[in-house]
Amino acid sequence: MAPSAMPDGVGVAHLPNQRHKIVSKRGANFTLMVCGESGTGKSTFVNTLFTTSIKNNKELAKRHAKQVDKTVEIEITKAELEEQNFKVKLTIIDTPGFGDYVNNRDSWMPIVEFLDDQHESFMAQEQQPTRANRIDLRVHACLYFIRPTGHTLKPLDIEIMKHLGSRVNLIPVIAKADTLTPNDLAKFKRNILDVVEAQGIRLYTCPIESDDESTTNNNKDIMSALPFSVIGSTEDVVTADNRKVKGRQYSWGCAEVENEEHCDFKKLRTLLIRSHMHDLISTTEETHYENYRQIQMETRKFGEAKSKKYENPKFKEQEEKLRLAFTEQVKKEENRFRQWEAQLVSERDRLNKDLEEQHAKIKAMETELENVYQMQGRNMRR
Ligand code: GDP
Repeated sequence: MAPSAMPDGVGVAHLPNQRHKIVSKRGANFTLMVCGESGTGKSTFVNTLFTTSIKNNKELAKRHAKQVDKTVEIEITKAELEEQNFKVKLTIIDTPGFGDYVNNRDSWMPIVEFLDDQHESFMAQEQQPTRANRIDLRVHACLYFIRPTGHTLKPLDIEIMKHLGSRVNLIPVIAKADTLTPNDLAKFKRNILDVVEAQGIRLYTCPIESDDESTTNNNKDIMSALPFSVIGSTEDVVTADNRKVKGRQYSWGCAEVENEEHCDFKKLRTLLIRSHMHDLISTTEETHYENYRQIQMETRKFGEAKSKKYENPKFKEQEEKLRLAFTEQVKKEENRFRQWEAQLVSERDRLNKDLEEQHAKIKAMETELENVYQMQGRNMRR
């Protein structure tokens, strides 16, 4: 049959639809990580995301909300989202905040180690004969929470973001946007982007151009909001015009989580869950995982275990404490020995002195006795 006789071609054009059907049936696994200084609102953000996205899973949101205030170790929460028959298995990784340790310089290392470990574990599973039921916790997006100082990024933020950006799709987030005025927020965003550019920090950027003009405009709109400002809250508040919304109540009114004039929470949620989840997953596989794999293949022999580059700062701190306690104990013991030695020396000196005195006494007695004998001898001769 001549090609012209086949009006629909061979059917290649349907492949995107077929792929869409397969993906819809299987659903997707999406792993999101939150990190940043402690107290910046990471846990609150996760709870807000759950309460605003998982409408039919209040129990899970409640369970997550009940967790301890301060995240002290890497915490993993799983949830399932379903929209128009499309299932997403969502895994959220909450990390311990920086600034909790005496030495904060290295406190981000366990997080970087965790990211590398997930690539490593996936790579090891890929080399197994059976690859079904693989455990995959490779992080598809990492939200980095920036304290709303209104100035710029701190040196520690810069260092951490550099390490994260080279391993994962890094998305910067300005926490507690309700604490900054719109002018200060806009200035803060510009300062952050300037530092990001000057320091060569790699951020996630989504593809902008699309066949559909409204999608292109949405993409532009989302990317122009970077770094995303967010307000976190699971509380319902009532606005001046009587709407019940998630937000934070103040004497001057309320800061609304889902109001685009108040913050970029909605844009960020759209990017993560609606518009760019697939891009985040595929760039993780095609760019970050491939990058890791390539470096490991070039630097390691086949079957060789990965070297532990980073140590847990928590253990380092404990080790330092133990070392100090040990040194202190040794010093105390040394002092005790010195005192004991001094006591022994003075006792020895006293005994020596006694002995010398006894010697002198005996000597004197001997001399006296000798004198007596001599006297007696003379008297006898007479
Ligand atoms: P984490 O240590 O980063 O997980 O921080 P938390 O989520 O525990 O939040 C620390 C404190 O900041 C809590 O008292 C929260 O109520 C508060 N908080 C969280 N998000 C916001 C926000 O968007 N605005 C304001 N003003 N406070 C917030």
